Amino acid sequence: MPHISGSDIAGEISETGKLVSGWNAGEKVLVSPGIRCGTCEYCTTGRDSLCESYRIIGYETQGGYAEYVPVPAENMIRIPGRLSMEEAASLPLVFLTAWHMLVTRAGLRPGENVLVWAAGSGVGSAAVQIAKLLGATVIATVGSDEKVGKAKDLGADHVVNHHTQDVPSEVKRLTNDRKIDVVFDHVGTATWEKSMRSMAPGGRLVNCGVTSGGKAEMDIRYVFVRQFSLLGSYMGGLGELLQVLRFFEDGRLKPVVDSVFPLKDAAKAHERMEGSQHFGKIVLRV
Ligand SMILES: [Zn+2]
Repeated sequence: MPHISGSDIAGEISETGKLVSGWNAGEKVLVSPGIRCGTCEYCTTGRDSLCESYRIIGYETQGGYAEYVPVPAENMIRIPGRLSMEEAASLPLVFLTAWHMLVTRAGLRPGENVLVWAAGSGVGSAAVQIAKLLGATVIATVGSDEKVGKAKDLGADHVVNHHTQDVPSEVKRLTNDRKIDVVFDHVGTATWEKSMRSMAPGGRLVNCGVTSGGKAEMDIRYVFVRQFSLLGSYMGGLGELLQVLRFFEDGRLKPVVDSVFPLKDAAKAHERMEGSQHFGKIVLRV
């Protein structure tokens, strides 16, 4: 059987298992993308993604590029606010990931400076909004001038084009030499050294992925003399997803849907993403 992608899912309940209570066919739900055991030390202390049996739907199981998707009942969540199905489908993985990174791992505080790499990505567009919600000052980077306005619309205080501008020197200028307290990174090789140069003494770098590669050279003297913290982050817990979704009830956080393609055009949707043409999430409609 071929692998079916798709970690972000929203839909209508078609059928429930015999032991499932509290849900009825026809109800509209979005799906929490992490499957956990629910009983181990990590799961019971809200650290689901450290669970030994933790798996991401659509990555380590069959996913949402399909008419029907089986999911555990505890992964179903009522769609918050008045969001459309497409908007609901754009939320779970990226907002959960960004929340876990900024709130849980980095402990972002009001007034701190945050650098969000690639704010046009799904997770970057979530991070800009969450950092603003927490009262931080946000410097966002984008890969083209067309995306500058969109990043500002999300709330970014400053936007830098990482292809045409030198990010560390722009950071220095924009913060009056104060530099960055929390770097939000999901890029890896291409950004690592620039992140180090952008960080204020005592800064934290939180990373959830390596879209440009996983190897980087690092002068360790920077890390100990300036007392940097390097924080790994991987998805997040069901409880954190419920927390972040509350902000969609009153519109304080907003879905960022770049475009909607029919499921049969999934290949075209991937081309758009791989060409970095998108801003926010690309949704497939079944
Ligand atoms: Zn567990």
